Amino acid sequence: MSETIFAKIIRREIPANIVYEDDLCLAFKDVNPQAPTHILVIPKKPLKCIDSGENEDQLLLGHLLLTVKKVAEEAHLSNGYRVVINNGKDGGQTVDHLHLHILGDRQMQWPPG
Ligand code: 5GP
Repeated sequence: MSETIFAKIIRREIPANIVYEDDLCLAFKDVNPQAPTHILVIPKKPLKCIDSGENEDQLLLGHLLLTVKKVAEEAHLSNGYRVVINNGKDGGQTVDHLHLHILGDRQMQWPPG
């Protein structure tokens, strides 16, 4: 997998507004927010997308979802929020390092664009 901007954020080679970190993942504010609160949760392991996940990643993928919950709580998103994973070209993925968007502090609409 080729290097992405998120790998550089993990290594602190470029700045980001980091809100959470542990051994397996990192959460930071999106540079181009689509909601008043827009945070990305990424694994430190350089998985490209959901399709790249294997059985060995089961614990990591579950950990990412529990981290979403933790980060949302810390961001006081008690009215709810949306979690988005864009996968591949048709999914609208632009950075080839798996990331979970947390969008909150506004009413979300359905269907998404
Ligand atoms: P995708 O479209 O791949 O699902 O989402 C990629 C997200 O990464 C976009 O929301 C975009 O604004 C965000 N992003 C891209 N480059 C950077 C960056 O250098 N720093 C931060 N914090 N977010 C970024």
